[in-house]
Amino acid sequence: MTRPAPKSFHVKSFGCQMNAYDGARMAELLEAQGLTAADSPEAAELIVLNTCHIREKAAEKVYSDIGRIVKRAEGGKPMIAVAGCVAQAEGAEIPHRAPAVDIVVGPQAYHNLPQLVADAAAGKRALDTDMPAASKFDVLPKRRRQGPSAFLTVQEGCDKFCTYCVVPYTRGAEISRPWRAIVDEAKALVDAGAREITLLGQNVNAWSGEDEKGRAQGLDGLIRELDTLPGLDRIRYTTSHPNDMSDGLIAAHGDVAKLMPFLHLPVQAGSDRILKAMNRSHDVASYLRLIERVRAVRPDIAVSGDFIVGFPGETEADFEETLAVVRQVEHAFAFSFKYSPRPGTPAATMAEQIDPDVMDDRLQRLQALLNEQQHGFNLATVGKRCEVLIERDGKRPGQRIGKSPWLQSVIVEDGPAIGELVTVYIVAAGPNSINAVIAERQAA
Ligand code: SF4
Repeated sequence: MTRPAPKSFHVKSFGCQMNAYDGARMAELLEAQGLTAADSPEAAELIVLNTCHIREKAAEKVYSDIGRIVKRAEGGKPMIAVAGCVAQAEGAEIPHRAPAVDIVVGPQAYHNLPQLVADAAAGKRALDTDMPAASKFDVLPKRRRQGPSAFLTVQEGCDKFCTYCVVPYTRGAEISRPWRAIVDEAKALVDAGAREITLLGQNVNAWSGEDEKGRAQGLDGLIRELDTLPGLDRIRYTTSHPNDMSDGLIAAHGDVAKLMPFLHLPVQAGSDRILKAMNRSHDVASYLRLIERVRAVRPDIAVSGDFIVGFPGETEADFEETLAVVRQVEHAFAFSFKYSPRPGTPAATMAEQIDPDVMDDRLQRLQALLNEQQHGFNLATVGKRCEVLIERDGKRPGQRIGKSPWLQSVIVEDGPAIGELVTVYIVAAGPNSINAVIAERQAA
């Protein structure tokens, strides 16, 4: 059955920053086709659900969202597209389970979204989960305003095959984008108003490529190149794997002025036995040495991590080792989750799956320690001066929210304009944010 082509769209992204980046690129693509961005799903004729498959709950959320969209639809159902990692993992199964879905498009194929919209409007099957050799980036439109802080995907996919993870299956093999394409996109983002760029990859520090002179470069080389870009004030990168932390990247934390003192380096568990079962291909000692080396060149660096509790076979002693690593590293921030069996991953069929109540108990204990550390890190910055990039309005008139160099959320009263980089004096700290005043005013 044919239907009118949609004139407006809304992209809703779930999960990681790379999905947020893909969501922004899909929005640019649809706008370049003449569609208008709608502020809410209710107001859109095309709704793109850009999904995450990392945990059971995340995947199921897609189907409940579709149900809500269909129920709420007044005057005809909007066109529904499912994109992202659930689209890649479940493909043609999705319209079987949810017939209201018109389009299914994977993370490596969303440059074909305009054609898929036309196919769906013509009543044709609109499904594309290919992983084409040709990069989608070559056909995506020029970047447009993303705000003072923007994401830039430089690497995709993963070859690590951690036994609990779906990413190698939903995002494919590791691919590094070419040097020129990245530098050009960074320039376009700065021209569009970005002062901070976060380089993204499932394994961003695995990025490699040749520079303009044909010299082999790693992520540190790319960061040093972007450090010379006029108008760019801050560089960040995420997410890294311990095995790809090169000497050059560690050194860059010591001498690249625009590289912010923040390192997100997941360890997942503190027991070598569990790390082996996870196929993380590194042990606790090498991880701790890395942290030591980074802190040696940048003593004030904020370290962030990822943790999974309740991995199959995890004993209380293994979990105690995780707590010991957390105490030793002292995290400024960390994500922590209960193990979630993912279809098709080796860990999902492992023996000794952990009782959910035990998982809950361990997660609570871990999060209590991590929250204490995060608050401690924030309290330790009280009395310091630092630069803050103002990103958005706060709740109160004149209040602004920005990011410190250590990626803390900073509340500034009587704040300057969004997009300004201001020197502040930190006056108070809470568990999740800090309060600051403009330094000059403090000096008066
Ligand atoms: S390194 Fe990260 S993305 Fe890759 S398989 Fe492991 S957890 Fe997944």
